[in-house]
Amino acid sequence: MEDSFRAILSRAAQTHRLTAAEIIPLLAARGEAEQALFAAADAVRAKWVGDDVHLRGLIEFSNYCHNDCLYCGLRRSNGRTRRYRMEPADIVAVAKAGVNLGYRTIVLQSGDDPWYTSAVLAQVVEEIKKLGVAVTLSIGERKKSEYRDLKLAGADRFLLKQETADPELYARLHPGQSYHHRVECLEWLAELGYQVGSGNMVGLPGQSLATLAEDLLFLQAKAVDMAGIGPFIPHPDTPLGGCRPGDVGLTLRVLAVARLLIPWAHLPATTALATLDSEGREKGLRSGANVIMPDLTPPPYHDAYEIYPGKGAPLPTDYHAAVRKLVARVGRRVAATVGHSVKPGQIKRHGDRSAVQG
Ligand code: SAH
Repeated sequence: MEDSFRAILSRAAQTHRLTAAEIIPLLAARGEAEQALFAAADAVRAKWVGDDVHLRGLIEFSNYCHNDCLYCGLRRSNGRTRRYRMEPADIVAVAKAGVNLGYRTIVLQSGDDPWYTSAVLAQVVEEIKKLGVAVTLSIGERKKSEYRDLKLAGADRFLLKQETADPELYARLHPGQSYHHRVECLEWLAELGYQVGSGNMVGLPGQSLATLAEDLLFLQAKAVDMAGIGPFIPHPDTPLGGCRPGDVGLTLRVLAVARLLIPWAHLPATTALATLDSEGREKGLRSGANVIMPDLTPPPYHDAYEIYPGKGAPLPTDYHAAVRKLVARVGRRVAATVGHSVKPGQIKRHGDRSAVQG
């Protein structure tokens, strides 16, 4: 390992600042240098967010989508998807079952589906909040007034991935959508008091290490509370069906650099990582991640939420217990708190005792 690489890494672990020119060699690291990057990210993770792993129970309540993102199996032009919408009462029932399984956060995710008005979703959020858990929404772009109504209903967090911080690549992948509008949505969410998550895909066609470095600097500039970073997985029924999937090693290096740059953030070991590599979650947890988002969506809906192939594969009967065993296997513990993020300089939120230093 070169001295210059070692110097960049140790400075990043202390100052959490890197330029794009410094990030690129970290993303290209292999062998001993790559292992040093993962170790540095793991140490920063331990120092800032501790050994707790937060489990977020995910409910994918609708796969209707009015967008046409080139990579996503839910895109509106995909006529082969069997579409479904869960009844609001069903969503609440699944959330209750999740809370009984021990989940302290319920994530509600869907395609961009205006069938669920903010009034309908607000009622769902209110019901779930009565269970004493945190609620994260991942429902795409809405009007600011809708984001406000949902915040007032009790939603705590919002996940809206920028997918790429390269405006040209964004435009190519998202016909009819606006890069700047998506950024504006992220700004509204922060203004309204949500804990905001964003993130990106790794291995998108047309992406480079330089654009990935920009993705990482974007997350830092926005001071996000969470970041979902996962590999791109080609879906055969989309225009990108013939492309190569994202690389697992590169995804882990992006995750590790994210931990260095936004040390306070909640970073999931994503399901997409676990789809490409049976050890993906463990590897993610050892490279900076501190969150897992197990799926609560019941069949037959679960199988139809195929944003990428493999996503809808049947879950083993011991799935939820297995996630807990996995956490123990990597020497960590399942968090007992709801796991709000705490940024440096922020006072801890009432009711959340997760230890954060820095
Ligand atoms: N409509 C919501 C939720 C989108 S689905 C929104 O716009 O926020 C959730 C995430 O799945 C997306 O943000 C994207 O990063 C990921 N995703 C979609 N298609 C994918 C693919 N082919 N490979 C990997 N991840 C994908």
